[in-house]
Amino acid sequence: MSRTAVRPHVVIVGAGFAGFQAARTLSRLTRGRTDITLLNPTDYFLYLPLLPQVAAGVLEPRRVTVSLAGALRHVRLVLGEADRIDLTRRAVHYADPEGQDGELSYDRLVLAVGSVNKLLPVPGVAEHAHGFRGLPEALYLRDHVTRQIELAAAADDASVCRARCTFVVVGAGYTGVEVAAHGELFTRSLVRRQPLRTGIEPRWVLLDIAPRVLPELDRRLSATADRVLRRRGVEVRTETSVKEATREGVLLSDGDHLPTRTLLWCVGVRPDPLVAGIGSALERGRLLVDPFLNVPDHPEVFACGDAAAVPDLTAKGQYTAMTAQHAWRQGKTAGHNVAASLGLGRRRSYRHHDLGFTVDLGGVSGAANPLGVPLSGPLAGAVTRGYHLAAMPGNRVRVAADWLLDAVLPRQGVQLGLVRSWSVPLDTASPETARVAGAPERTRDAAAERTGDE
Ligand SMILES: Cc1cc2nc3c(=O)[nH]c(=O)nc-3n(C[C@H](O)[C@H](O)[C@H](O)COP(=O)(O)OP(=O)(O)OC[C@H]3O[C@@H](n4cnc5c(N)ncnc54)[C@H](O)[C@@H]3O)c2cc1C
Repeated sequence: MSRTAVRPHVVIVGAGFAGFQAARTLSRLTRGRTDITLLNPTDYFLYLPLLPQVAAGVLEPRRVTVSLAGALRHVRLVLGEADRIDLTRRAVHYADPEGQDGELSYDRLVLAVGSVNKLLPVPGVAEHAHGFRGLPEALYLRDHVTRQIELAAAADDASVCRARCTFVVVGAGYTGVEVAAHGELFTRSLVRRQPLRTGIEPRWVLLDIAPRVLPELDRRLSATADRVLRRRGVEVRTETSVKEATREGVLLSDGDHLPTRTLLWCVGVRPDPLVAGIGSALERGRLLVDPFLNVPDHPEVFACGDAAAVPDLTAKGQYTAMTAQHAWRQGKTAGHNVAASLGLGRRRSYRHHDLGFTVDLGGVSGAANPLGVPLSGPLAGAVTRGYHLAAMPGNRVRVAADWLLDAVLPRQGVQLGLVRSWSVPLDTASPETARVAGAPERTRDAAAERTGDE
């Protein structure tokens, strides 16, 4: 039986900022007159901006998740990862978490699959570096850093101790800056209880090829972040990159060699590779859409968030940045426009002026420019945390409770060892899920090969 004859069926692929908001908006507008299915590999929405706090032990991992079933009552959740979209047959093919295949047919499709870690062709990086794009990577990092400090504290050899206590972060965008800022505070709290050999201190090194940290943000934010990081002892090395990574350390572009067991790759993200296989026009890997978020020649298909190249109507000739701020609002526009395509209301174009940015530097420090007003110090820290609490679609009380506990209690320095290094490879199309031993190895390329669809 065709679903169209009964109720239109809308499939939304991806439940991040854009997909979650598209589902919520559409559900509110259609009030049961449409079947809405949300396809996502996990049963939660992940509030990515607070991930550095999970890695640093400030927040417990479930705090930054919001249950999809709990938050989107009238939306059907299908657990799985899309591996092929057939625009002609109007079908989404996917694999569920146990490796079983499934297919969803649709009348309207919203693609909101986000982005994955960006790789650069640097020898050794794919093998020895880890990214920071999902909960498994944050859990891995928290354990890994704790383990390095514990092993360093027990090491007899000063050079081994020094290498284990050196943490190298590549990429000084907001992810790298926050990871380094929180990481430094975390290791400082760990060594307070497990002192290292005399004279050896944890060392955090933040590298970027650009001439300043936060190169894509306002210069004043950049200056504040730079000042706070240096004051804490983080070595900020601009105009420097990685030439080669090995198990024992990192060779830098300036010839320096840093012995380390930790290389964090925060050089940015690229659109989820799923969109490349659709056969529609791309702009730097993102699916090109019009200002109404429609994919050209497919009025029934919409795309939004990091995976979509959305024309920026406030800056001629540019596309909107890959930020939560845009993804969230594009999701809302997509929800409205899907409803309009079904005869409910009028469609609208996407237009949004940046409201500023907030960077959490750990402790009470932050750097922010809400509505263009530059803030630093504890005021910026408070604005940043207040903003996150307001922006989260759930779990606010638990997050606030963890912040309160962190302010009065020492961090818990234990590693659970549940996420291992091999289960969070840098080169993955699925940073949201950890690789499991013995599970059928299934990649999107393999699925495409089986069907002859490259
Ligand atoms: C550590 C970190 C900190 C950040 N901090 C900020 C910040 O402070 N401010 C800001 O504006 N932005 C920030 N960002 C960027 C922001 O999080 C992203 O721009 C935003 O998440 C993009 O939203 P999205 O919906 O496009 O993608 P996502 O939020 O990543 O959601 C994509 C969803 O699609 C799912 N998915 C992926 N592939 C498939 C598939 N094949 N099938 C089904 N589902 C799939 C994923 O599991 C996920 O649920 C940060 C990012 C990171 C990594």
